[in-house]
This record gives sequence, C-alpha cells and structure tokens, in this order.
Amino acid sequence: MIDHYRISVEDYERFVGPQVIERIKQKAKTLTDLSVVNINSTYYGGGVAELLSSLTLLMNNLGIKTEWRVIHGCPDFFSITKKMHNALQGADINLTELKIQIYEEVVHENAIRNHLDHDIVIIHDPQPLPMINFYKKKSPWIWRCHIDLSTPNKELWSYLLQFVEKYDAVVFSIKEYEQKISPPQLFFMPAIDPFSIKNRELSEEEINNRLARYNIPTDLPLVVQVSRFDRWKDPEGVIRAFKIARKEVDCTLVLLGNVATDDPEGEEIYQSLLSHREERIIILCRQDTALVNALQRRATVVLQKSIREGFGLTVAEAMWKGTPVIGGNVGGIRYQIQDGVNGFLVSSVEEAAQRIVQLIKDKKLRDWMGQNARETVRKRFLMTRYLENYLDLFNAFEANYRLKYYPSVSFE
Ligand code: UDP
Repeated sequence: MIDHYRISVEDYERFVGPQVIERIKQKAKTLTDLSVVNINSTYYGGGVAELLSSLTLLMNNLGIKTEWRVIHGCPDFFSITKKMHNALQGADINLTELKIQIYEEVVHENAIRNHLDHDIVIIHDPQPLPMINFYKKKSPWIWRCHIDLSTPNKELWSYLLQFVEKYDAVVFSIKEYEQKISPPQLFFMPAIDPFSIKNRELSEEEINNRLARYNIPTDLPLVVQVSRFDRWKDPEGVIRAFKIARKEVDCTLVLLGNVATDDPEGEEIYQSLLSHREERIIILCRQDTALVNALQRRATVVLQKSIREGFGLTVAEAMWKGTPVIGGNVGGIRYQIQDGVNGFLVSSVEEAAQRIVQLIKDKKLRDWMGQNARETVRKRFLMTRYLENYLDLFNAFEANYRLKYYPSVSFE
C-alpha cells in the first residue's frame, strides 16, 4: 500500500491508462508553481471535504501549490448557512436583516484573517461566498457550488447574486444547475479517490473485523445507506422502504451517518430516527472512514435515497466497490446511475422497497450491475478526471481573468 499523501497521477495509470496520465502531465506543465487556495467550511463530514482532501494532495504532487483553508464561525453562523443550504435546495427561508448581518460579519472576520495573494482562489459553497467582497482582486476567483440548484429559493438566490456576480467563473456539478448569471458557468461532476482509506481494497478479514467492532451482524443481507444525517438524504424513507422490503426478504438495515461541523441540524435528525432502532435496524452516528468502506463493500444493496443531491459521492464510492446502488431519481444521481444498467433510480419508498427485494433475490443481476457500476466509475468518476477539469479551467484564464475558451469536459 502506498502512503496516501504520496499518491501521484501515475498511480492512476492502472485505472485510466497511460494516455490520460500523459495528457494530464502536459496540461499541468504550464501550471507548475501556480499557487491555488481552496476555501470551504469544514474539514470533514461531507462531500466537499472528501474531494478537497484528495484533490489538494494530487495537485501538490503535480507541482501546483495548492492550499486548503477552512473558515471559522460561531454556531449561529452555521445555523444560518445550513438554512441557506436548505433554501438553495428548494426549502423556504426567513432571510432577516439579523441573519444577513451575522453571515456577512463572520465572513468578513475570516477575510481579515486570511491573506490571499494566490494565483487562483476557489471558494466552495455558500458559506464563504461573500469573501470576494473583502479583497482587492489580484487573480481569478472561482465559485464552486456543490449544491443541487435545480430549484433554488428565489429570495435567497437574488440576495446571493450580488456576490456570485463578482466571480470570474462559477462551477456547478451538472448543467441542470445553470443559472442566469454573467460569470461563465462550467460543469464538473465530482469524483472519488480509489486510494483513500474509504475506497481502497479491503480483505474479507478486514471487512469482518471492522463490522464486528460495531456488532453489525452479517448473517443476513445488508442494506446500507451512508449519509450525513440530513433531511435531503431521506433517512426516514430508507427505513420505510426497508420495513416494506423485509416482509418479503430477510435482511438487516444499517444507516451510518456523521455530522459535519458546518451542519448543526444533523444531531436532531439523528435523534429523531432512534425510535426506529431494533435488532435488524442499526443506526450509527460515527466518523469511521474504514467502516464506510467495509459497509459499502459488504452490502448486498446500497441506498442513496436522496430527494435532493448535487452529486452523490457515496453513490460513486459504492459503485466503485461493485455494489449495486438504488439512488433517488434526482440531481446528480441521475448522471451517475443509468437505471437498470449499473443500478436503479427510484422516485418513491415503494419503488425503493421493490428494488431492494429484487436485488437481494437476484445474485446474477447484482453481479452484472456491480460490474457495470465499477466500470462507470473507472471511466467517469475517478479523481484524475476531476483534476483534469480544473487544469483545463486554470489554463483557460487570460491575464484579465476572462476565459480564453470554455474548456470542454470529456470523460473517456
Ligand atoms: N461520509 C462519511 N461518513 C458518514 C457519512 C458520510 O465518511 O457517516 C462521507 C461519504 O462517504 C462521502 C461524503 O461523506 O464521501 C458525503 O458526500 P456526498 O456527496 O455523498 O454528500 P454530502 O454530504 O456532500 O451532501
């Protein structure tokens, strides 16, 4: 096993072939010694942190001086930004003067503490979005929004627009999230790191040991969902689907979640689920990356029954492990799962239940879908592709921070 921090693009050659690696190295040549800073709002617990931890290492390995900073804030601030997150995904928000004041003041404080003289600044999601107001711009600023923006709350979006408009480029996960804004918009789907603790190969013994540590029974097929405790992930719906499915097949449900530091609602959602706990319904709130890996590998079926999802890293992680995923027919998941080929897309609890039963009963179908799923991730959702998207974007900036051209994104 290679130390994770030493992973280089060459290590991906076994998955993506030598041509891709050569192309990436060529694209990186003009960027050596470039300094890049990423700013988000949590070191762990969600997809953004997951992406940044791998991508920043890989970029440094290529000679691009890439930093990752996290903004600090009081609980009030994160409660407001979580409400904003929810509203961007379509919920209502009561956007008071006080909320706006706290939001902008905390971001201002962070701007005072962060001296940014990098060649490229990448701001992730709404939490640090207004930072751009507090600097004299000396380089291109990119806003990378990871949220499902298919139906953003209009009032909130029109407030945030004043900041978004100042950026030199905006990156969303899929074209459907495109907005009416002046900065150029690009669409990069996230990707996974096959060498991380979460995704690396595990032996059967390692899997068994990890599951045993949490007393997870392996006598019956495991139905698993791994997600932050968040209403958009529909944990209630997962439990209901499981209860319907087990009338026909014996199985155990494991709902594993964590609570990100920038997500104050998680604890409450977790508590609200506990009354469902029983011998065959295991609900765990833990930050254990190796457990995520073990569960995604051992599961007979993985669910990601989201009702909004910018892009589901958990979906790609399970698919990479050859496990069929039943995903909510929403947002980015629709670009990850091809229904009936490398997984299933579902729009209701009943449909999810029916697919759980079907997959548990049909090993041949599971094996076939699992193989297709792994191949999909190999071709489209490995970190090298995401890295290349960024290299293309960096290379496209002119001296006046405009884009010379819109980098086109290819998969294979
Ligand atoms: N995750 C984890 N432990 C948990 C729940 C989630 O490590 O208990 C990880 C998960 O494996 C994935 C990330 O957090 O890498 C979640 O990313 P995703 O895009 O699925 O959803 P987000 O949380 O960003 O909405």
